[in-house]
Amino acid sequence: MNQAVERGTLFVISAPSGAGKTSLVAAMLRNDEKLGVSVSHTTRPMREGEQDGVNYHFVSRDAFEAMIGQGDFLEHADVFGNYYGTSHSWVRDTLAGGQDVILEIDWQGAEQVRRLMPECVGIFIVPPSPEVLRERLVGRGTDKPEVVERRLAEAAEECRHALEFDYLVVNDQFEVALADLLAIVRSQRLRVAVQQDRHGALLAGLSR
Ligand code: GDP
Ligand code: ADP
Ligand code: 5GP
Repeated sequence: MNQAVERGTLFVISAPSGAGKTSLVAAMLRNDEKLGVSVSHTTRPMREGEQDGVNYHFVSRDAFEAMIGQGDFLEHADVFGNYYGTSHSWVRDTLAGGQDVILEIDWQGAEQVRRLMPECVGIFIVPPSPEVLRERLVGRGTDKPEVVERRLAEAAEECRHALEFDYLVVNDQFEVALADLLAIVRSQRLRVAVQQDRHGALLAGLSR
């Protein structure tokens, strides 16, 4: 089989904290079994309801720094005072297996991935207004007030990087934003470069 047939597409999704990225990505996975999401490593404390190995791999700062030293991360960044990083081997092996992969990472990580894998597809998600962003972060009820304030303060910085992405999705009505995201994934799969690998025999037969 052609090597290229085995390669999935890498989607890099960023958003200010509270925009709805995690909920939307979870819904994308329920709608599309060919999508996988990378489970990041983080040093932030586990929230109620989170599970190690499911939402994140929760590790100590020492363990994280040892992993940096070993070159285990495709990218890593300091976000809101905690380390977050993406496993290089998982992403490489999953893409090589032909599966499409989503990274839910911040703009600093997206910049690193774009440099290493320029063929990736960048998607930026925004809330419909700053007020709604605050309501969602507070309403989520997972972070202390000072953590919410820090995340809101950093939201403007995150949003200043929106133009570095390929697609912009406004998460006003959840179902509309979800349909937009699924449309982006679908359009990537219809690109000639991807289709010619999948339908090489058909094209050859028709071109004879
Ligand atoms: P939430 O997005 O508000 O639910 O907050 P999280 O605590 O899950 O994530 C905090 C920040 O870290 C966000 O900006 C994420 O995009 C970013 N982040 C999460 N995982 C990674 C990662 O593997 N690498 C990088 N660079 N950033 C990450
Ligand atoms: P992020 O991962 O970007 O920080 P979350 O997925 O945790 O964001 O969403 C933040 C909060 O907003 C959650 O409580 C979620 O249920 C809620 N939410 C997400 N999208 C919408 C939407 N379109 N309308 C209303 N609430 C939403
Ligand atoms: P939370 O702490 O609310 O789970 O995540 C906060 C932010 O961290 C999210 O907005 C997310 O984009 C970012 N993030 C999560 N995992 C990673 C990662 O592996 N790398 C980078 N760079 N950012 C991450």
